Parts: sequence; C-alpha cells; structure tokens
Amino acid sequence: MTLKVREILEKEIFTRNDIISLLQSEGEDRTLLFKKSAEVKEKYIGNKVWFRGLIEFSNICSKDCLYCGIRKGNTNLTRYNLSDEEILTAARFAYDNHYGSIALQSGELESKFVTDRIENLLHKIKDLSDGELGITLSVGEQEPDVYKRWYDAGAHRYLLRVEATNQSLYKKIHPEDSRHDFYRRLSCLKSLKDIGYQTGTGVMIGLPFQTMDDLAGDLLFMNDFNIDMCGMGPYIEHVDTPLIAYSGELMSPGDRFDLTLKMIAVLRIMMKDINIVAATALQAIDAIGREKAVKIGANILMPNITPGKYRDNYKLYDNKPCTDDSTEDCQSCLEARISLADAEVIYGEWGDSKHYDLRRRLSAEN
Ligand code: SAM
Repeated sequence: MTLKVREILEKEIFTRNDIISLLQSEGEDRTLLFKKSAEVKEKYIGNKVWFRGLIEFSNICSKDCLYCGIRKGNTNLTRYNLSDEEILTAARFAYDNHYGSIALQSGELESKFVTDRIENLLHKIKDLSDGELGITLSVGEQEPDVYKRWYDAGAHRYLLRVEATNQSLYKKIHPEDSRHDFYRRLSCLKSLKDIGYQTGTGVMIGLPFQTMDDLAGDLLFMNDFNIDMCGMGPYIEHVDTPLIAYSGELMSPGDRFDLTLKMIAVLRIMMKDINIVAATALQAIDAIGREKAVKIGANILMPNITPGKYRDNYKLYDNKPCTDDSTEDCQSCLEARISLADAEVIYGEWGDSKHYDLRRRLSAEN
C-alpha cells in the first residue's frame, strides 16, 4: 500500500518507499513537505544561519573523479596553491568579521608535506583568533593518524562527501582503481567519527545513472551512520570531465534543483538537529537557490573568502557562482539574501551541530 504524503509526514520513521514518495511529491504534497521541514527547522534549530568562511586553498588533486572540474586529468585549468600567508590572511578576515568558523577545502593529496602543513596552519589559525575560530576541514581521504593529528591541532569538523552510497553508482562516476575505493571512503568517515570530529557527508543529486531509490538509500545511510552534518547539492556538468558525455540523459537543471530541495527537506525531518549546508551549487542553477534551501531546512552557509584571483580555477562545475566577487561583496550579498529567507545570520558563534552534542552526551552516559 502506498501512503499519502500527508500520512507519511505524520510518521516518526520513514521507510525507503516513504522517502521515494516524498522525493516525488508535486503540487500540494510538495508544499506540505516543505512546510513540515521548515517547522522542524524552526523548532529544533531556530530561524538561524551560521557562516563558514570557505577557503578553497588549492585545486591540486591526485584523484580523477569523473564529474569534477579539478580532477587530475583536466589540463584546461591553472593549478594553484595559496601560500600560508594568503590562507592566514583569509582566516584573519573571517575572524575580524566575526564569522564563527572557517572551512578549509582543497583537492585531495596525501603526503607528509600536506599533513605537516595543514597541522601547522591549524595551530596558526587558532593562535591568530585566540582559539575562537571554529575550523572545518574538507581535504578528502587520509589515514586515521593524519585525521587525529589535525583534530589535536584544532580542527573539530570534517566534511567528506560519500558522493553516492550505491556502490554500483559510485563505480560509474569514479575510475575503477584503488585511489577511488568506495570502502576506503566509508572507512575514512568511520575514522573521523571515532576520533571525535563532528562528521559530515553528502551526495550529488541528479547524477547520470542515479535513481530515486539511490537517493532514498543515501538518506537512509546518513541516518544509519548518524551523521552530524550534511552538505549535498545538485550535480552540475563540467565540460572538461568524462561525465559530460551523459549530459543528454540528465534531468533538467530545474528538476535537479527541486530534487535537492526535497532531499534537504526530507533529511531535516529525519535528522532534526544536524547542520545542513545550503550548497553553493544551488546558486549555479537558481540565483536565490541557497536562500530557498535555508527556508526549508538548511542552516549553514559558506561565503567564499578565497582570494578573488584564484576562484576561477576552483571550478568544480560550469557556471560556478561568485567567482568574480570580492570577499566583502560575498558577505554583504549573502546577508541581504538571508534576510529575504526571514533568517538571521549569527555572528561570533561556532554554530556546532546540536546533534553532535547530544550524540556525545549519550555515548558518555552509556
Ligand atoms: N576532495 C575533497 C573531498 O572529496 O572531500 C574536497 C574537494 S571536492 C572538489 C568537493 C566536492 O565538490 C565533492 O565532494 C563533490 O561532491 C563536489 N563536486 C565536484 N564536482 C562536482 C560537480 N560537477 N557538480 C556538483 N558538485 C561537484
């Protein structure tokens, strides 16, 4: 028996079929879904948004993911690596402007040099902000001892998108070799959680070959893994990637956008107190895409504070927004936009995942 959306929304726990029905909802049903997710957000999080000043500090990557514009095999871009001073200047900007946190993101490299460098930068960022800036890392798969060193040096959140939890889909969007191993990605997520990070993951939505069943599986995975944070966004083609060959098979950008909003709404209802990012890729499709995501459940925004001259070369996908904004433009533009979503930007706070606090408290009691 297929339940009506109204009935599903009254349930405590969603089945795979329930999730599929919610993701396929249209018209009045879709409105009901968004109304419910907005209510859950208001109740558990409040109408609030926290910033993570995003520093995309290097586009050098050892991986060759078939969808990604900064993949190793793309020779149509200039590779860059910010100097330590440029990274620290961006972090200082975030601190001076009372962003509670920054996020350091780059392509994936594993080496002693990278480990030492990031560890050293973490100490320096903590020093320049009197320990006040919260730090999220998003620098891919690493060995557990590397994650531990960075945790000890002051990073307390880590975002590692699993990208797709259906293994056969994962294999279709990555080269088949040991550098792109699904199980390693999962074991990295597990290490991050075991070490004590607020652990975030996410997927791309609207990928070629992806089904509604895959997406329902992704949300169930996030729930079962008990994640603290999620960053997920629409897949957007990049002309210099192998997956461009499947552009003709994709749903329209508008439909990918809408499906992303539904994924956020369903996840907010399933995992009421986690942090959910309004991904920049939403804005590549809809000029006020991130604000729409905030209205129906997201509570984290990542204003880009990478020095402007590098931004054009961190093009993960075509039409990436804000690559020609200055850092200050980015902030004031986002602030104005957020007030459009009737939400308030909270300055000077880390905006940690409430789910993480509860999870840690419960595990300490047991
Ligand atoms: N390499 C690190 C990692 O995987 O954790 C962080 C950098 S990676 C470029 C950041 C994210 O960009 C990926 O997790 C992926 O989901 C997203 N991304 C890459 N190509 C994309 C595309 N064509 N459309 C949408 N998102 C994309």
